[in-house]
Amino acid sequence: MDNDRDHDQSADPGTKASPPETVPSGSNRSEANSSSTGSARTTADAETTDAETTADAETTTDVDADLDTGVDADVDVAVDHSPSRDRSSTDVDLDGVVFQGDADDEDESQGLFDDLLSGEPIFENKEVLRPSYTPHELPHRTDQINRMATILVSALRGDTPSNILIYGKTGTGKTASAKFVSNELESTSKKYDVPCEVEYINCEVTDTQYRVLAQLANKFIQQNQEVIADRIDELETLRSRVEDASPEVENAPPEVENAPPEVENASHEVDDAPLTNTPFDDPDAIDARIEELRDDAETMEEVPMTGWPTDRVYSTFFDAVDYHERVAVIMLDEIDKLVEKSGDDTLYNLSRMNSELDNSRISIMGISNDLKFTDFLDPRVKSSLGEEEIVFPPYDANQLRDILQHRADVAFKPDALTEDVIPLCAAFAAQEHGDARRALDLLRTAGELAERSQAEVIGEEHVRQAQDKIELDRVVEVVRTLPTQSKIVLFSIILLEQNGVHNINTGEVFNIYKRLCEEIDADVLTQRRVTDLISELDMLGIVNAVVVSKGRYGRTKEMSLSVPIDETEAVLLSDSRLGDIENAQPFVQARFDN
Ligand code: ADP
Ligand code: MG
Repeated sequence: MDNDRDHDQSADPGTKASPPETVPSGSNRSEANSSSTGSARTTADAETTDAETTADAETTTDVDADLDTGVDADVDVAVDHSPSRDRSSTDVDLDGVVFQGDADDEDESQGLFDDLLSGEPIFENKEVLRPSYTPHELPHRTDQINRMATILVSALRGDTPSNILIYGKTGTGKTASAKFVSNELESTSKKYDVPCEVEYINCEVTDTQYRVLAQLANKFIQQNQEVIADRIDELETLRSRVEDASPEVENAPPEVENAPPEVENASHEVDDAPLTNTPFDDPDAIDARIEELRDDAETMEEVPMTGWPTDRVYSTFFDAVDYHERVAVIMLDEIDKLVEKSGDDTLYNLSRMNSELDNSRISIMGISNDLKFTDFLDPRVKSSLGEEEIVFPPYDANQLRDILQHRADVAFKPDALTEDVIPLCAAFAAQEHGDARRALDLLRTAGELAERSQAEVIGEEHVRQAQDKIELDRVVEVVRTLPTQSKIVLFSIILLEQNGVHNINTGEVFNIYKRLCEEIDADVLTQRRVTDLISELDMLGIVNAVVVSKGRYGRTKEMSLSVPIDETEAVLLSDSRLGDIENAQPFVQARFDN
């Protein structure tokens, strides 16, 4: 397990093993890493806004941080010292973090890191709260994990496991559980030396048949190359043993030898009959086999990321899997995205392969966030893929508490949390369809906010701030990616609100909308379409619209903004087209003149 842990951490580009960054003079952002060894604590997501550079006075600060991964990092931080911000001359030694002050400085003002160091660090290991971290314990998923294991154990017996389909909403632990099981499966297969491999593909990223097949083909080709290289090594060793073998040692007891022969013995001992129990009758046969393997290695051509016809990609993949005996479990995470984007051809092709493979077998494990995605599948694919189905139900607040507690024990310093924090994070995330990812985000963000405000402990207020921040981040992202027409509609609503209009109706929005469109040369949609766009904004939770009856004048929608107005406006104005509107006030004024 420890190996897995190391592996996970180094595989993640955001972890501490990455090379430390050099923060240039005048940089306004730096991220120093934490340590669990108690030596250098500089956990900080530091932001100083004062970034103007006066290059004549510079101090270089050496932070020698002993990172969790055991990597010693020398971070060279060049701190800009304009005369007004020069610090006093003391050398500060904080458990190994040495800040050498400039000896001439008399001023008491704070250096870049002083504020941050003065707060008690809260995190012990922030990485375990990040989504990329694969936990080694998954409370409340024992049933699902055991079911997967029961199905997949056939692979270790050399049989083909049933295909599995896993369903559940986001944040219910599907990916984490599947990766956990696949790590265990691979390590057990190594332990017992059975040829079983797991290939993981995230179909949100790899979302076409070509790319899925190409990625699989290339992974298997790489593994085949490794297998071939090992085999050639073994054969060459065997070959040199044959050469070393001499008639003089005929009396030596015959050694029972299993292929592959042990490398260590090769140079020291001389076997009398190194070919016993091998498929080779004479040294020439070995040479022939080595030659054959070299040819194989040479002809295995990796699939380029575009350009080949799909059937060529498919047959390359097919040949690569079938190159030697093995059971391959292919994990297709976010499989619904693949089907949505490129239909079910990939799944159809994969699910039919076993009847044609000679040496190997594949088993598919599909993971879907969308419970209804099989409705879109060809019935044959559906029945093949869904041989076994495992459902991941949403977590309730109590389960989320357990999950958070497990992670918090590792992530934070002892006593860094007040007792309300975990229950509150769990309660917020339980409302968010029991999403463990949200729960962990809340906890991490609350910790970061507490740290930034130099609080000694994380309290309820930090969780509430974190909830607001995450919510705002979500809004910003949703608004930022709206189509231009929806942005114009939303901007109209904002302008009306800014001018104190309450219970804004569709007609009022439409009037402003028209003028804005003219101003920026956008097409003007009909009022009917604008009403539809308002409904969409409502569904996204950006506005709150209700239908009100106006008696004999019919019905209209009345709406108000449900997101923070200033931030939303800023996001809209960052769009280059809307940003062109210099001063929108006249349009609103015109409304009152109508
Ligand atoms: P899904 O794939 O269902 O969207 P993930 O497996 O990515 O969800 O889980 C989201 C986050 O929550 C990940 O950081 C994961 O490590 C964590 N998580 C989910 N379930 C558990 C659990 N039972 N125990 C610990 N962590 C969990
Ligand atoms: Mg997932």
